Parts: sequence; C-alpha cells; structure tokens
Amino acid sequence: MDLNALRNISYGMYIISSNKGSQFNAQIANTVFQITNEPIIIAISINKKNFTHEYIESSQRFSISILEENTPLDFIGKFGFKSGRTENKFINIKSKVLSSGCPVVLDFSLAYLEAKVVNKFDCSSHTIFLGEITESEISKSGKVMTYAYYHQIKGGTTPKTAPTFMKNETKGSVSMQKYKCKICGYIYDPKIGDPDNGIKADTLFEDIPNTWVCPVCGADKSQFEKEE
Ligand code: FE
Repeated sequence: MDLNALRNISYGMYIISSNKGSQFNAQIANTVFQITNEPIIIAISINKKNFTHEYIESSQRFSISILEENTPLDFIGKFGFKSGRTENKFINIKSKVLSSGCPVVLDFSLAYLEAKVVNKFDCSSHTIFLGEITESEISKSGKVMTYAYYHQIKGGTTPKTAPTFMKNETKGSVSMQKYKCKICGYIYDPKIGDPDNGIKADTLFEDIPNTWVCPVCGADKSQFEKEE
C-alpha cells in the first residue's frame, strides 16, 4: 500500500472562522467541499481538538476565506500552527464581522462564504459540519492556492491535527541538506530557499542569517535540526 496515492487528491487552502459570542477564532483547513446545489451545502472537516471546533459548536456558523496563491507562509502559519487559545489571531489582520456575528478573514482572500450549520457527522478525530450558505462574496480576482502548491512550491507542512496529515511527510530535492523546525515541522529546503523572506533558492541553511526565523511559526534557527 502506497499512502502517497492520497497526495493525488486535489484540495485548496482555506481559513475557517467562527465565533463564540463576541470572541473570534480561525484556522487553516484544506477540506472544504460543495456537496449540493439546491440548497447550496458546503462540508468542512474540523479536528475536535481545535479551538475553532468549539466555536462552530457554539455559534453554529462558520465562514470560509479562499486563499490566493501568493499567501505568505507566515500568514498560513499564524492560522495553521498556532492556537487561538493562546493568542488572538484577529489582531493585525484585515477582517470583518458578518450580520450573524461570524467573523471572516479578508487578507489574501479571493472570496468568502458564510454558512449556517445544518447537520454534522462524527468522524472519530474530526467532525464534518454541513453548512447551508448564507452569504458569499468575491473580494478580488486571482489564482487560488491549491494544497499541492502549498506543499510543493511553498515548502509548507501539515499540522498533526489536519485530516490529511501523514506521518513521514517528504518533499523537495535530496541533494542539499534540509533542516526541519522542531516546533512546527516546517522543512527548510535549500533548493527552494525562503523567497518570501529574502532567502534565495540554493542558499544553504548554514548561510542563512541568524536573524532569520521559521517562516511558519517564528522559531529561531537554533530550533532547527537536520532532516534525515
Ligand atoms: Fe516552525
């Protein structure tokens, strides 16, 4: 059995936001699907451990921001690798609150949808929420970020709480030593560099300035170890 077969399934990259009263939280998700057309029902899969899960259970609402291809890794890291239990993710970002009270993230978002929960299914570690669309808007034109682009071009990784997380994620080339962030699992691939933060392709890890930090979680260089 080759589980890399699963990598051939296409996904997008989204920010799911929800509220509990006047408190907001949001997280990255790649599992967003339109299920039916009349009425328009969307499904999302959310880990039960995630703070956003609790908020969706509370308000029965969620919004989906569809991310554009040039979304920086640190922006994805803010929503994908940090918990709203310890920091307010809505500080220093562009967002708005819909009439239902549900927030929506606008930065790097091509379009958004809002949905009211109409059903849910227990899937062991995750809950699949079905939502009927209550609002939708296109913010700007552009290319959507696919999950494959995030992994292959941006060098992104998947948190353990994601439905598509795989043990032993591998990516990129093998000819130059890669380094892995011990905090979030981001892998620095010298072939790719970190162009978002001024590190050109073909820069060895050893040659990156010490002021550089993990583009996903913000950890410093000392938190990196050789990737076997
Ligand atoms: Fe990191």
